[in-house]
Amino acid sequence: MTKDVKVEIEDYEGGEIVFEKRTKIYQASVKGFFRKLKDKIAYVLLTVFFILPFIPYERPGNLPDQAVMIDLTLRKYFFFNIEVWPQEAYYFIFLLVFAAIFLFFITSLFGRVWCGYACPQTVFSDLFFKIENFIEGSYLKRIKQDKTIFTKKVLPKKILKHTLWFLVSFATGATVTFYFNSATETLVDILTLQASLTIYFWTLFLTATTYCFAGFAREYICIYACPYSRFQGAMMDEDSLVVTYDDNRGEPRGKSHDENIGDCVDCHRCVAVCPVGIDIREGQQYQCINCGLCVDACNDIMLKLSRPIDLIKYDTLRNMTLAAKGKQAMSKIIRPRTIIYATIVTVLGSLLLFGLLFKKQVLELSVSPSRSPMYVQLSNGDIRNIYELKVVNKSYDIDSVKLTIKGMEDAKITISPDYKVQPLDEYSSRLKLKRNKVNRFKVFIDSSSYAKKSNYQNVNFIFNTKDINEVEKTKFTHP
Ligand code: SF4
Ligand code: SF4
Repeated sequence: MTKDVKVEIEDYEGGEIVFEKRTKIYQASVKGFFRKLKDKIAYVLLTVFFILPFIPYERPGNLPDQAVMIDLTLRKYFFFNIEVWPQEAYYFIFLLVFAAIFLFFITSLFGRVWCGYACPQTVFSDLFFKIENFIEGSYLKRIKQDKTIFTKKVLPKKILKHTLWFLVSFATGATVTFYFNSATETLVDILTLQASLTIYFWTLFLTATTYCFAGFAREYICIYACPYSRFQGAMMDEDSLVVTYDDNRGEPRGKSHDENIGDCVDCHRCVAVCPVGIDIREGQQYQCINCGLCVDACNDIMLKLSRPIDLIKYDTLRNMTLAAKGKQAMSKIIRPRTIIYATIVTVLGSLLLFGLLFKKQVLELSVSPSRSPMYVQLSNGDIRNIYELKVVNKSYDIDSVKLTIKGMEDAKITISPDYKVQPLDEYSSRLKLKRNKVNRFKVFIDSSSYAKKSNYQNVNFIFNTKDINEVEKTKFTHP
């Protein structure tokens, strides 16, 4: 028998409420060097994201004439003159490892600048914040307006803001689908309501996620959903560049002109502009995305008060400790951690570039002997082995390859399908290949005069084109 048990959160942990309710952040806008830098980076990234699928790139045959595309039908990834086949999925693993180590490298040098300047969550949240700020006004106005939403003055602003948010989200969702389909055709199809259900599903799904993440969840994604904020500490050390508050200079804070009071006038501008709502004066916190907006805010106050800037600045923790002791600052960019990351990044990056640009095999050949059964005995007593032959022809000009089978003298060799094979002599044939396609053949080797000492013998499949000479070693199995 089960019994209903009522659990009251208030009763848990001695009357404490264990889940904190979200407090909405009303971020203030700010002007300054880092704000401008953030904007410029965001404009470049957004332009690249929205424009890239529309850049044309001519390719032969019926391959997509789109510079960047993940073609799920052909199961190929196109990036200008680079074409990645499904058989080359290891390039993606390589790329992911490279990107991760590169991120570690940048973080060890400059802290979480990826989060502060280039992460899509930051870029879109910032864009949504700008729209909000433009339509609804300053953060003080927004706080007031949120108490009187359903009034003639506020409601139209709210509707306009959400409409613009939706349009940006929709454009984002649609753009993602352009990377998987012909961009121009899909754009027309979406606008004329003729796109497939799959395209509408993904467009609307990504519209909804962008709208929620950038419009409402914002800093919650960084603080609670993104794993990177949790393990960033492991990549940084006391020589990484982070946003720091100079408490030797700033404390004790206060508005009085007393000479014992520090430079911080406790105006809270640095807190008001912070997109994650923290007070950097409390020290380093895992929520900080190193965006530098508090630096701009504080510098602005310091300039107005005719005091030296950089009460809050990008600096290393080592320098802060040295400054507290009255010692000279020192920057240590070259240190074991950065050397290791830089070495791995250089090696991986060079291998990746070399592999993608210079070492791509135009013809991938593989021979797999059938394993069930390993051989069959024919009615005339001959032993037959069957081999699956796969020729991945990535080129646009190779249309045949010469195949010679060595090591099976006196054997009868048949290759199917026949219409794709032109026999040259008893052991050589020319295989016709479809350009830029995977070509499959079956090879039958029937032999009675096999070596009886062991139950297999070596066979070589030799492939020749004008520039390629490749040998695939396999076995002929018999009783
Ligand atoms: S504390 Fe400063 S650097 Fe960190 S997130 Fe807030 S505004 Fe950005
Ligand atoms: S903006 Fe500068 S002066 Fe104002 S509270 Fe922050 S640290 Fe102090």
